[in-house]
Amino acid sequence: ALVIRRLWKSYGQNDVLKGVSLQVEPQEVVTIIGPSGSGKSTLLQCINFMEPFDDGEVIVNGKHIGYLPNTGSTRVRMPEKQLNLLRRDIGIVFQQYNLFPHLTVLGNVIEAPIHVRGLSREEAIARGRQQLDKVGLLVKQNAYPSELSGGQQQRVAIARALAMSPQLMLFDEVTSALDPELVGEVLATMRTLAQEGMTMIVVTHEMAFARDVSDRVIFMDDGNIVESGRPDVFFSNPTHDRSKAFLRRLN
Ligand code: ATP
Ligand code: MG
Repeated sequence: ALVIRRLWKSYGQNDVLKGVSLQVEPQEVVTIIGPSGSGKSTLLQCINFMEPFDDGEVIVNGKHIGYLPNTGSTRVRMPEKQLNLLRRDIGIVFQQYNLFPHLTVLGNVIEAPIHVRGLSREEAIARGRQQLDKVGLLVKQNAYPSELSGGQQQRVAIARALAMSPQLMLFDEVTSALDPELVGEVLATMRTLAQEGMTMIVVTHEMAFARDVSDRVIFMDDGNIVESGRPDVFFSNPTHDRSKAFLRRLN
């Protein structure tokens, strides 16, 4: 589903990704953990080219994203239109849910399918309701975001991303801003999605989720993938000093 090769990204003098390579198979659930500033969010943002990268390549379902392939070191940026076509297949959910406050829950969910995918209003509504049902919020379809709890808003944000029928879902610490009692319902939604076979990359501090739900855990530190492995192996027997130290600090 996704191939990342030798990805480099700097902000000025600050090298944030230093040759990250990663392959994610269809239906695989990969969690990314690691200290603050290690480049986790930047990596996700490079995958859909919200942040341009400086070197390397990102290939989603066989298609290069960001730069036209085979343009060598000249790196020709792809036309915005082509980029947006590729982005439609990549759903991303952030810590801040950023729902449109002036639209109802259903309005939020059908917006992009109508305006970006070109679905008819009827079709978008039918599909949107399905997605809201999936996250357990069909009853709130006519509510406004301000009338929802943080956990409910985050589940709407997930439904909104799913309504675009993405092939790949990226989650960046989607439970970090939530009150502790609301974290569980959002994780449960993500767990269901994983069980249904969605391909997912999840940046998270929720180690139980990483251990129980993901097929693979990736530990990032200082712009590199330091360790990658099955969650049972990683959590019981980390091999790298920096992953050991990170896990020790959590306990
Ligand atoms: P956290 O766990 O705190 O979310 P992270 O692993 O997601 O951390 P990133 O947000 O990817 O880390 O940041 C990696 C590095 O890139 C940090 O040194 C950060 O200061 C820098 N950085 C991130 N975004 C920008 C930006 N827009 N402009 C300049 N520097 C940035
Ligand atoms: Mg981050």
